[in-house]
Amino acid sequence: MNQVIEETKIWQMMGTTITLQVGHEEPSRLLAELGEWLHVYEHRFSAHDATSELMAINQAAGRQAVIVHPELFELIKLGKAHSCARNSYLNIAIGPVVQKWHIGFEDALVPTKAEITELLPLTDPHQIQLDEKMKTVFLTKPGMMIDLGALAKGYIADKLITHCRERNAAFALVNLGGNIVVFGESPRRSDGAWRIGLRNPKGSREESLAVVKLSNQSLVTSGIYERYLQNGSSVYHHIIDPKTGFPVKNDVASLTILSDSSVDGEIWTTRLFGASSLEVLKALEEQPGIEGAVVTKENQFLYTKGFEKI
Ligand code: ADP
Ligand code: MG
Repeated sequence: MNQVIEETKIWQMMGTTITLQVGHEEPSRLLAELGEWLHVYEHRFSAHDATSELMAINQAAGRQAVIVHPELFELIKLGKAHSCARNSYLNIAIGPVVQKWHIGFEDALVPTKAEITELLPLTDPHQIQLDEKMKTVFLTKPGMMIDLGALAKGYIADKLITHCRERNAAFALVNLGGNIVVFGESPRRSDGAWRIGLRNPKGSREESLAVVKLSNQSLVTSGIYERYLQNGSSVYHHIIDPKTGFPVKNDVASLTILSDSSVDGEIWTTRLFGASSLEVLKALEEQPGIEGAVVTKENQFLYTKGFEKI
């Protein structure tokens, strides 16, 4: 093998900062390919771009089934299963309510209870009809909308890492605005493990609460501090309780999941985000293959037994 060269590239995309760091014989070429993939994936999964592949499903709601790319089908199928699970706070059919709030955008506003109540019947994930053989998706009622904002970055991060493996990269770090996946050995450390700082929800972006060791794993954090809308003294963040249509209310400020795949990290951060910190910890301990940590609004730091903190 020729010499491994390290290179890093940064993009502003998908409403966030994306950083890809690779070790490869031809890192510029690999990074250029990954950049092309980022555009393909943004176009596939975006709920904000009127021309995206996902949007075609939403625009045909109540009218017809749409044939979709197998990857889009796969993520919707996975998302539907976890949206229909008992006590899940994840609901990929939450689109109409998310669009109403528009948190993270300039025209965000606090909707009335009546407006939300009217939209809730359009957010039933059971009404997402999937045809495995035809690879079609049909939203049965007009006005329904799938939003993959909670899952897409994890799914994409996993795909980018697979691409790095297939291109024989020596190592890679994918950071999609806080969704981090690492592959291979860190060039910085003699033990080869990557070390990622967990942000203190109340501190500055650089201030970390703990450092986590990663090896071919993903670290995903969902927090109430990333995107929010301030209205007088009230703060509304961007994770919506599917039952009420209003931001979840609990004692959790941020929830971090350590897992092999990043889409699992995404699924579980959102599935559990509305639960209390103790319920979250209990659910994480019961779920095989994932570990996690919670920072409460009172600044308590709780984590599962297998969470490798240093
Ligand atoms: P980010 O990494 O952008 O902070 P998260 O992974 O925490 O995003 O997911 C938040 C996004 O998911 C929201 O911006 C919205 O598009 C969507 N969303 C909000 N509430 C829910 C929910 N209960 N279920 C599924 N998706 C949601
Ligand atoms: Mg998420």
